[in-house]
Amino acid sequence: MRHPLVMGNWKLNGSKHMTADLIAGLRNALSSVDGCDVAIAPPVMYLGQAHQDIAGSHITLSAQNVDINLNGAFTGEISAEMLKDIGVRYVIIGHSERRTYHKESDELVAKKFAVLKDAGLIPVLCIGETEAENEAGKTKEVCSRQIDAVLNTLGVEAFNNTVIAYEPVWAIGTGKSATPAQAQAVHKFIRDHIAKKNAAVAQQLILQYGGSVNDKNASELFAQPDIDGALVGGASLKADAFSAIVKAA
Ligand code: PGA
Repeated sequence: MRHPLVMGNWKLNGSKHMTADLIAGLRNALSSVDGCDVAIAPPVMYLGQAHQDIAGSHITLSAQNVDINLNGAFTGEISAEMLKDIGVRYVIIGHSERRTYHKESDELVAKKFAVLKDAGLIPVLCIGETEAENEAGKTKEVCSRQIDAVLNTLGVEAFNNTVIAYEPVWAIGTGKSATPAQAQAVHKFIRDHIAKKNAAVAQQLILQYGGSVNDKNASELFAQPDIDGALVGGASLKADAFSAIVKAA
C-alpha cells in the first residue's frame, strides 16, 4: 500500500519568526495524524532551524533545489550532502518555476535526480505541461519527455522510493486546480508509462498532484486511485489550511 505524502513548498517565503510559528501551528494541528507522510520545504536558509523545530514530530524536511556538484568552486550553490547533513529527506527538483526562471533543462533535472539518489535523498520530480501545451493536446507528450530524461539515463529502478509531482503549470498559483478527473487521467498515464518498464516500481511510486490544492478541493483529489497526496504551495503557508489538506489525505 502506498502512503500518501503531503508536502508544503514554501517557495521564496518565510522568516525565522514565520518558520517557528508555522511549525508550532502544524505540530499542534497534526499531533494525532498518522497514515499520511508530511513534509515541509522552507527556503534553504531556514532548514536548520526547521530541523530543530520539527524534532519529535512526524513532520519531515524537504529542500526546494540542489546543485549537481558535490563541492568545489560553485559559488552560491548547495550540495546534496549538505542537505543530508542538516537532516533533509526530500528534495524538489524540476519545479516549473526553476525550469522557467532558471532555464533548467530536462537533462539538468535528470542529473539532479542522480545526485540525490547517490546521496540517499528522495527526489520529488516535478513535471507538467503549460497552458499552451495543454490546449495543443500535448500533456502526455510533455510529461513522458520529462520522465524519460530520467528513465533513459538512470533506468526505471531509479524510481524506487521516489516521488513524482504532476503539476500542470496553468494550475500553479492560479486558483485554477485541475479537476480530480483530469488529474487522475494524467496520473494513470504516468503510472502506466513507468509500468511499461517495471510494474512493481510503478506500483510503489508516490504520485503527488500539485497546482492550487486547498482545503476545499483536496479530499476529492485524494479520492482518486492514482493520486497519492499533494505538493502544496500557497495553502502550505497557513497552518490551518495545510493541516486540513493533510487530514484530507
Ligand atoms: P500552488 O503551488 O499550490 O500555490 O498552486 C504549487 C506548487 O508550485 O508546488
